[in-house]
Amino acid sequence: MIRWRPFIAVLALALVLVSPASAVQVTPQASPADSSVAPFLQINPLPEGDPRPDGPLSVAATTGIVADLVRQAGGQRVDVITILPANADPHDFEPSPEDVVAVEDADIVVTYGLRLDEWAEDLVANSGSDAPVSVISEGVQPLAADEDEFEAGDPHAWFDPTRVQTMVDNIAASLSEVDPDGAPTYQARAAAYKGYLTALDVAIQDRVAQIPIERRKLVTNHDALSYFAERYGFEVVGTVIPSLDTRAEASARDVAELVDVIEREGVSAIFAENTTSPNLAEELAAQAGVTVVDDLYTDSLGEPGSGADTYLGLMQTDTVLIVNALR
Ligand SMILES: [Zn+2]
Repeated sequence: MIRWRPFIAVLALALVLVSPASAVQVTPQASPADSSVAPFLQINPLPEGDPRPDGPLSVAATTGIVADLVRQAGGQRVDVITILPANADPHDFEPSPEDVVAVEDADIVVTYGLRLDEWAEDLVANSGSDAPVSVISEGVQPLAADEDEFEAGDPHAWFDPTRVQTMVDNIAASLSEVDPDGAPTYQARAAAYKGYLTALDVAIQDRVAQIPIERRKLVTNHDALSYFAERYGFEVVGTVIPSLDTRAEASARDVAELVDVIEREGVSAIFAENTTSPNLAEELAAQAGVTVVDDLYTDSLGEPGSGADTYLGLMQTDTVLIVNALR
């Protein structure tokens, strides 16, 4: 139990810094051998705030992660429709006619940006909507990307909870512009939720400390984990699809090189993901003689009940999968 003490001290500080309504408790794993993907943050309800007299704002959000963050900031003042289905790949998505209708009816459209959901531009144009469009990654410091189509930076910034705090502030500000009377509610909920993000960040650091430093090497399906690696001290030694975009294809030479790298670096697992087929990852793992962990939740939330149907759930699920595979 001793290893929890420094963490609890930091947590106590975090609790002093955030509102009392956002009290967070941590449930330690039952035993070090526990392999279940149980959440390790206990989340209490955020401050409710006042309902909106005219009924909730109608919000169209592009991805499940964006939609969840809008619900966290907006509470009962918002009614959020998610365009991207659970487990779907935002890099390779074609909106349907129903999605056009959802955008047409929205009071505000909330997008991610950094080319993750660039299909939203056509969607808004086709709907003829004049609703404001919020881009939640604005002001987030992106990691540089060496791919031409991502010159603005690596889009997968949600893998760093401290960067998500900026996104939550952006959402609260955008909702307040459309619904000024709700501003106190949006600000209070955003502040409390940011307390959870701080607690999540500290808890992930604590979990990752179980992995010996020389084993903190990631091979993922596509290049989605750079922010996680940067924040928590991992090295991304290779990716099955050699790109930030799942639509790229690995050549036979890419595959052969990655098998070499896996063997040379002593990597023990390849992480497949919920949004794409694991076939190539499985083939590569068989060649390299390592295991495939299926599935990390990367660019899309999971189905309700999956444990990864919220952003906080996604991050906890992925952390447990990574820690269990590499420690
Ligand atoms: Zn991606």
